[in-house]
Amino acid sequence: MNNKDYKGIWVFAEQRDGEIQKVSLELLGKGRELADILKTKLTAVLLGNDVKKVANELIYYGADEVILVEDKLLNLYVTEPYTKVMTEIIEEKKPEIILLGATAIGRDLAPRVSARIHTGLTADCTSLEIEEETNNLLMTRPAFGGNLLATIICPDHRPQMSTVRPGVMIKLERDEKRGGEIVEYSSKLTPEDFNVEIIEVVKETKEKIKIEEAEILVSGGRGMGNKENFSILEELAKELGGVVSASRAVVDAGWIERDRQVGQTGKTVRPNLYIACGISGAIQHLAGMEESDLIIAVNKNASAPIFEIADLGIVGDINKVIPAVTEEIRQIKG
Ligand code: FAD
Repeated sequence: MNNKDYKGIWVFAEQRDGEIQKVSLELLGKGRELADILKTKLTAVLLGNDVKKVANELIYYGADEVILVEDKLLNLYVTEPYTKVMTEIIEEKKPEIILLGATAIGRDLAPRVSARIHTGLTADCTSLEIEEETNNLLMTRPAFGGNLLATIICPDHRPQMSTVRPGVMIKLERDEKRGGEIVEYSSKLTPEDFNVEIIEVVKETKEKIKIEEAEILVSGGRGMGNKENFSILEELAKELGGVVSASRAVVDAGWIERDRQVGQTGKTVRPNLYIACGISGAIQHLAGMEESDLIIAVNKNASAPIFEIADLGIVGDINKVIPAVTEEIRQIKG
């Protein structure tokens, strides 16, 4: 089979409880761009039970086509049946590129599928481009602890597969005028395809913080000094309608929970406003926030690397600057 026989770009449309995950919409945005360059079709692949009602959303966000596989047996994500269905449709339809979110589900599903269909997979990509001469997908990801960026290609096998972290790509504006086709595909799953049985799903009762969805982040680093001092960031975040996030140093110190960590081994964020307080600006931290629209940094060391990427820098002690800014905002708001 020749590489040229593989056509089209697929995005795995991850859904939970029938809700399409934001990363899948972001991947449709990137997929649209790549499909236009390759002059090919962008397809979203939606697996689940009773999910037809959200299929059109995938078209509104850029897909030309949705492959819809509905089955009661696909109600909850389970590795083996999802892998089986994905593998079957890939082998039948032969896409050129498949993109998945680097979520718990995507990270579980992608390597299984790639092994079954004997192709390569690049995990945690931060950039995807098409190489002009060859039309190969250039998949770039941080390597060696984020000290360099490696661009990986999969020239001899198809499809080319990649996972991408939430918050890295940009979703298109939702447009109900966008048209597309929904193609229903029936799965051949039977209960024998299950090697595990889900007896009960216990949802975490604590409300999950999704820093990657916040428009304003007030982020604290080791310079905050201690856990208690984060209350001044909470106050500022409250006035701004934002959320508190942090550097890894702070997470490792146990001052804040891990799902608030920004950076290479944390979340990639792209808020409208990122306020870095007592964060030095290590490359691994910058990797997760440098695409923010507006970056304000507060640091007592004028030569801290964070100032190199900040749009606005304040050299000063956070203990003085942050409460003063919060107070000023309160005054303005009246
Ligand atoms: P520091 O580097 O210690 O900086 C503290 C800053 O606070 C200093 O610039 C100091 O001048 C300033 N300061 C101190 N007191 C005050 C004050 N009173 N007022 C104002 N400023 C003050 N890091 C991440 O953040 N996210 C990641 O995902 C991540 N992944 C990593 C992966 C690998 C493989 C490795 C090797 C490292 C990773 N790191 C990550 C760690 C990273 O290299 C840095 O160690 C970390 O980001 C430093 O955190 P920080 O900026 O809070 O602390």
